[in-house]
Amino acid sequence: MSLSLTIHQTSGSARRATLSLPHAAVETPAFMPVGTAASVKALPQHFLEELDARIILGNTYHLYLRPGHELIRRMGGLHRFMSWPRALLTDSGGFQVFSLNELRKVSEEGVRFRSHLDGSSHFFSPEHSMDVQIALGADIAMAFDECTEYPADRARARESLDLTLRWARRSKDHFEAHCHLAPWSAREGDALTGQRPNLFGIVQGGMFADLRRESAERLVEMDFPGYAIGGLSVGEPRAMTREIIAATLPYLPTDKPRYVMGVGYPDEIVEYAAMGVDMMDCVLPTRAARHGLIFTSEGRLNIKSRRFAEDQGPLDPVCPCPVCGRYSRAYLRHLFAAQEPLAAVLNTLHNLAFYLDTMRLVRDAIELGTLPELLVRFRARENAAAAGEA
Ligand SMILES: [Zn+2]
Repeated sequence: MSLSLTIHQTSGSARRATLSLPHAAVETPAFMPVGTAASVKALPQHFLEELDARIILGNTYHLYLRPGHELIRRMGGLHRFMSWPRALLTDSGGFQVFSLNELRKVSEEGVRFRSHLDGSSHFFSPEHSMDVQIALGADIAMAFDECTEYPADRARARESLDLTLRWARRSKDHFEAHCHLAPWSAREGDALTGQRPNLFGIVQGGMFADLRRESAERLVEMDFPGYAIGGLSVGEPRAMTREIIAATLPYLPTDKPRYVMGVGYPDEIVEYAAMGVDMMDCVLPTRAARHGLIFTSEGRLNIKSRRFAEDQGPLDPVCPCPVCGRYSRAYLRHLFAAQEPLAAVLNTLHNLAFYLDTMRLVRDAIELGTLPELLVRFRARENAAAAGEA
């Protein structure tokens, strides 16, 4: 294991920390942009560096299908292949495979599924997911889990949680036996020779607080270097997401990183950070950007709207990002309407800048003791945005 979490300051349950990984020191709480197919859609890597993103995600399922993990291993691993020198996290492939619904079949051994690309048949087991992730060579790999669907009754959530725990054990055993084969770990003369990727366990248990507790406790007995709360943002109401996070966090060790997968809106990520979550990821800022939905300090705006046709102002008057420093809403609306590829680039750049700045505000607020005020501000803005859309 090559990971350490240094906590600098706490404020209520929130923690301001530095997560040291082989390829980067990540200031937490952190938001992690999603780079599905070895690319954060529409953004070149140097922009991500300019935004000071220290860690991004890659999706195991997508990279396994195309271009293939063995090809990426031959290219020196995912960092080298995509020219991203900072930290990477790969998911286990479980979430994507479970999103395939009709195309999959689950057994004790693993999951058989059909590719969404060409319909070809594939099999993922915990061991295979670990082999793929080790070939990709992320700083953080994730245990292979079953993402319990929503809604799921108690019996179903229990069965799914038990399977995930058995798979967590198998994931960990296989990972520990083979993680020295990660490209940078195994490369002679690399600055990181001998350092190891890290494997996080994933808490499941559906929307049942006691099952979440049991899942967390049994994972902690296995002693992972970090823990994720999975199976959220699968269609449940937001209040339930918060309730499940609140019910799980007390059973995860405070001296290890805690990651909530697949969240959320700006006020949600502020709220979860305030509850003690260290890491979050979501496709929302990037996907929304490509659909013209912009997050700003004044709430959300839809760049398609006619009211921006002759608006000379920036997307967000207080945003320090290069888009707001240079381009008008009128121009950005035109790019979007004309379906210019630059629209996706600029909208994504701004939205990610907004998300990363939001986490910077959270980190500053933890240090200054002003996190409750920040949370009130973000909630009020989100309520106004929701009311405006209604
Ligand atoms: Zn901006």
